[in-house]
This record gives sequence, C-alpha cells and structure tokens, in this order.
Amino acid sequence: MSESTPLRLVDSHGRVATDLRISLTDRCNLRCTYCMPAEGLPWLPKDELLADEELVRLAGIGVEHLGIRTIRLTGGEPLLRPDLEALVAKLATLRVPAGGAPGLALTTNGIGLADRAQALASAGLNRINISLDTLSPETFKELARRDRLADVLAGIDAALAAGLSPVKVNTVLMRGINHHEAPDLVAWAGEKGVQLRFIEQMPLDAQHGWRRSEMVTADEIHAMLSDRFELVEDPVDRAARGAAPAELFRVGSTPQRVGIIAAVTRPFCGACDRVRLTSDGQLRTCLFSRVESDLRGPLREGMGDREIAERWVVAVQGKLPGHGIDDPSFLQPDRPMSAIGG
Ligand code: SAM
Ligand code: SF4
Repeated sequence: MSESTPLRLVDSHGRVATDLRISLTDRCNLRCTYCMPAEGLPWLPKDELLADEELVRLAGIGVEHLGIRTIRLTGGEPLLRPDLEALVAKLATLRVPAGGAPGLALTTNGIGLADRAQALASAGLNRINISLDTLSPETFKELARRDRLADVLAGIDAALAAGLSPVKVNTVLMRGINHHEAPDLVAWAGEKGVQLRFIEQMPLDAQHGWRRSEMVTADEIHAMLSDRFELVEDPVDRAARGAAPAELFRVGSTPQRVGIIAAVTRPFCGACDRVRLTSDGQLRTCLFSRVESDLRGPLREGMGDREIAERWVVAVQGKLPGHGIDDPSFLQPDRPMSAIGG
C-alpha cells in the first residue's frame, strides 16, 4: 500500500466499517445478572488501559484515515472513566475528511448522569443510550444487584433536559424477572418521550449462564406488546434502517417508536458497519470475535499513524460473515460483554 492510497475498512464480504465502538473501562458500578457475576471480575490493570491521548490518537486514525464517521463510548460503565467530559471534548475536535466532527454517542447505565449530562452535551456529545430494565426498585435490585433505580431515572431526565435527543433506552428482558414489564415500559417511554429498544439477551455474560431455551425472543416481545398496543411497521423507518440493529414499530397512531433488537433470532450481521476497540487497545471486528488485533503495543512502540491504519485495515478484512450463535460449533468469546464494550 502506498502512502497516498486512501484506506477504508472493508471486509472480505463487502461490508464497510464506519462506526467505532470504544470501551473506556471494563469496570462497572452495577452487576446486571446477564452481564457480570455478583463479585465482579478481575479488572484490567491500569497500565494496560489506553490513556486519553492514546485513545484519541487511535480514534483520530480511524476518523481521519479510515472512514470512521461515528464513535460510541461504552464499557463497562463509561461514566466511571475519570474526566469523561474532557475526553469527549478532545474527540469532538477530530475531523472527518469531508469536514465536521464525527458523531459522538454514549451508552451508559445512567448512574451519575444526572449531574453530568449537561456538561457532556456541552463537550460535544450528540446522542445517548441509557440502560433501564425495570421500573420497580425491587426488581432493579434483583437484576442489577444494586439499589440504584432512582439514579438511573434521574439520569434519563437529565439527558432529556440536556437536549441529547432522541434519548434511547435499552432494555434486556429476563424470563421470570422483568419480562412481564415490557408493556409498562413502553407506556412509560411514551410518556417520557424516549425511544425504548428491547435487546435480546446474548451469550456474552462472564458466568456463561445464557441459555437459548430461556431467553425472551423478539417474537415473544412483539406478541407481548401487541396484546396492549397496536405495533405498526413504518415503511419510512424500514427504508431508513440501514445498519441500525433495531426493528422499529410505531405505537398505534402516536409518534412513539419502539425498537426490538433481534440480535440472536434475526441477526443483522450482513449489514454490520461496526468495529470495536477495547479499553486495553485491542481491535475486535465483532462482539463475538475470538481473535483480537493489538493496536496498543504498536502504538506504544512508536509505530506511525499510517502503519497502524494499515494494521487496522488488515484486521477488518478478516471479519467473519456472522456471529454464528446458532452454529453447533459456536463458542462464546473469552472476554465478557463488560470488557468488550456493548
Ligand atoms: N454499562 C453501560 C450500560 O449498561 O449501558 C454500557 C455497557 S453495557 C455492556 C451496554 C449494553 O449491553 C447495555 O444496554 C446492556 O443492557 C447490554 N447488555 C449487557 N449484557 C448483555 C447481554 N448478555 N445480552 C444483551 N445485552 C446485554
Ligand atoms: Fe454494568 Fe452495563 Fe454490564 Fe450492567 S450491563 S453490569 S451496567 S456493564
């Protein structure tokens, strides 16, 4: 590859990666049962984590040389990253080749967001996804193993007040725990003015407790919601879906939309435009990858931007066509969701 050849992140199946998901930390202040064990996990040592400058440099290579147009910050819990506001401000100074900053989004459990949403928006954050699985404090305590529902709800209000719209709320339904709450959550989202999206539970928990036979499927969710609401597929939403994972439905004749993300039962791998960077600088082409490409090592050894970009290109070329959860040979990745970045 000559220095002047423009680079793109194209895999061998023709998909182009334009969306970078960066995990800022593997740590978390909740212990959601579908994600982490009660005792937590052996956290990555601090010196293995990318420092802010390293992370901004890698993001800059993606944005300026490789066609990355949107960056989503996640974790673990990204609000635990010290001075996230300053990091967002630095990322907001990056420029895509056509001009303008990349789209900056955050996925968070919302704890502590009440005091920070405005500062994050002022620093350049454009969009936010907040996770909320239940409206019951008792169920929250059971599911997340912490009594923090009020903090999450306050975080959602603050995100709305800060104009981070549309605020999207992610929900994972667990059979026998919160799955009966699905219609109440939709009603709540309508009143609040947030877009609720149900995500099928995936085999990414550290405890390997996921069972296909127990997960609540997209079809079940659709049926549960249809008992109470008229769900209408909107051709405009369908045409605009692109690489978005959620199938969107209009709720009756209201402007409200509800999303169902059928990651397991109707995978959308064929339209995937994502690539992921872990907090310790490993590139992953899929949540379910079993291989990673190290970018931190070359970065710390002084490799130049162009060479790092070329490594990145090679890594993406090898992206597999799908996650293969339904394959008899499927193996869960070694890293849990919290360390990959959801
Ligand atoms: N801590 C932040 C949060 O909870 O939003 C960001 C990281 S979390 C890993 C990102 C998203 O992944 C959350 O919406 C969470 O509910 C979802 N998630 C975690 N484990 C999951 C699993 N096994 N299957 C499906 N979604 C999962
Ligand atoms: Fe933490 Fe998010 Fe995992 Fe829950 S889903 S334990 S909030 S990383």
